[in-house]
Amino acid sequence: PASGSVILEAKNVTKRFGGLVANNDVSMSIQAGEVHALIGPNGAGKSTFFNMISGVDDPTEGDVRLMDKVMGKSPSRDFAALGLGRTFQHVRLLGQRSVVENVALGAHRRAHKGWIASMLRLDRGEEAALLAEARRQIERCGLGEFADVPAASLALGQQRIVEIARALAGQPAVLLLDEPAAGLRHLEKRALADLLTQLRAEGLGILVVEHDMEFVMNLADRITVLEFGTVIATGTPTEIQNNQRVLDAYLGG
Ligand code: ADP
Ligand code: MG
Repeated sequence: PASGSVILEAKNVTKRFGGLVANNDVSMSIQAGEVHALIGPNGAGKSTFFNMISGVDDPTEGDVRLMDKVMGKSPSRDFAALGLGRTFQHVRLLGQRSVVENVALGAHRRAHKGWIASMLRLDRGEEAALLAEARRQIERCGLGEFADVPAASLALGQQRIVEIARALAGQPAVLLLDEPAAGLRHLEKRALADLLTQLRAEGLGILVVEHDMEFVMNLADRITVLEFGTVIATGTPTEIQNNQRVLDAYLGG
């Protein structure tokens, strides 16, 4: 997609759990070539929103559009096929498998039943192509020297980048990252920010749900702030840092 074009859009999305309104009329978009951060206090509705825009859960009202297609009750793999890649809040790697095997799993879009089952259905040519694509993504993410070591032997910051490489192996146009900086050391955060800056320059649209404000303020092009399920502000980091309502609700405390 051309830089600045909308890849993923939520229009007037409301999510209710019984009487609780977890997302209330939320609209936001993610464009090609931007990092958009979603922030807000605990319980604000960030994970609920993330689940809806990644196809894990459906809105009660409103809709989610991916590449201009209105997504209905679609399983996550349909979102992946349309160009969405994601990572999870907690690292989900097969620790004893090599980095390249873990990333190859992401290159195989139908690989939702696990490594063995999916791999058994591939012929050798297909498997070789997946592994080659996985190596390409690992190089792209700067982890080439670790391609053949067990994933569990890497530091947390590197494991997070392996998860990004795995998402990239599905050829996404938009990448959704759930708290990618959580628990990382300072230098690991820098490496992660450098990678996301590179991917943005390559034209990806990136959404990060993140609590680390220094990380967000240094990286994001736009920030959307949720409070009690409602968007209370959208803007540049400077605008958000000077928004009185945001300061009162979140940043001031
Ligand atoms: P955040 O990720 O910003 O901390 P969540 O989206 O997890 O917020 O939660 C928003 C609100 O929705 C909270 O009050 C939470 O308890 C509620 N909630 C989230 N998921 C469910 C669910 N599956 N069933 C009932 N309530 C939920
Ligand atoms: Mg959450």
